Amino acid sequence: MKLDVGIGGLDPNKADIFLDLDHVLFRVGNDGREGFILAHRLRLGWCFGTIWTDTKHERSWNVASAMPLTLTPSILCACGEHGFVRNGKWVPA
Ligand SMILES: [Zn+2]
Repeated sequence: MKLDVGIGGLDPNKADIFLDLDHVLFRVGNDGREGFILAHRLRLGWCFGTIWTDTKHERSWNVASAMPLTLTPSILCACGEHGFVRNGKWVPA
């Protein structure tokens, strides 16, 4: 599913969940109840997108497991980055 993009200004070093060295998540809302912001590393800087997990949003992901985190379906960033969050890790698609 495609990410909404355009969120920046977050420090990936202070993320809530480190999926790997190049992919991190920030929780949105109360303990991530609303979703996450994914930040992934580009050649220069980071790319950001939102992953909604509540039903208020037109597109939302399913939290198959909260700990370790597994989301479905896959995540497709506007920049072309595509992968899965499985067992708290980023898995390239
Ligand atoms: Zn991206």
